[in-house]
Amino acid sequence: MLRRVRNFAASALCVALLAGAAQARGACAVVDFLTLDLTGAADRDPVEAALAFAYPSLTIVDGAVQFDNGTRLPIGPDRDLPAPDRLDDPTLREQFSQTYPLAFDLSLRETPWMDPGRARNDAFFRNLYFATKEAAARTLVRVGYQRGATRAAFKVTTRNCVADQLQAALDEIRASGAPMDVYFEKTGGSFNWRPIAGTDRLSAHSFGIAVDLNTELGGYWRWSGRPEGNAGAYANRYPPEIVQTMERFGFIWGGKWHHFDGMHFEYRPELILFSRLAH
Ligand SMILES: [Zn+2]
Repeated sequence: MLRRVRNFAASALCVALLAGAAQARGACAVVDFLTLDLTGAADRDPVEAALAFAYPSLTIVDGAVQFDNGTRLPIGPDRDLPAPDRLDDPTLREQFSQTYPLAFDLSLRETPWMDPGRARNDAFFRNLYFATKEAAARTLVRVGYQRGATRAAFKVTTRNCVADQLQAALDEIRASGAPMDVYFEKTGGSFNWRPIAGTDRLSAHSFGIAVDLNTELGGYWRWSGRPEGNAGAYANRYPPEIVQTMERFGFIWGGKWHHFDGMHFEYRPELILFSRLAH
């Protein structure tokens, strides 16, 4: 009996925690980044405009972004580095050196090192999201996809409305009625505080902004046996409908990268807006 009472107390606490998390998520107005009104952006530096429209918490003054923790980070120059050198320590502006393609055209990735979104300024993400694993953990919630026997759950952050944006994307995919369930089976990771192999830079999964869908269908260049810089052909098995819906809600897809990561989606609305502004 005591055990049953304890279990009841534990599940009541669990429900309370979930309710609290749901409230925090509900605070966001979901944004469609493919149709978001960009009035005023055409008169601005497109990098500054993309950042400002993507992240309302940022203040941009005198060529620098200021985060809500008070830290300033210069947007910096584009030094026109060779793409492999840019990966190590890009300026904030260099995150935009390669324009993420909104078209479902995988021929662009045939160019070696064409990986728009893979160059990340570490300080930008540590300030926009978190500097420690503990701080990240306090903001994580579960976002789910459920239809029939298919259930997937992803741990992502509520910061910058990532959880609400992901939930909106998954709800849209499910509601479309298209046969998408298989992509939500055998899913990979979501939140995972870890450096990128061989570097000090944190992976996008560290910030709770990335999800990996079906790993068997995804394809990943590191598993292909090909060397970095020559990742070769990518036999994509993900449909454009999933990719385009995820992009609408701010998530770029690793299947468009030369170093393909076809299961990987990452919240980078600034790249989607920059792509619109660059046209
Ligand atoms: Zn991933």
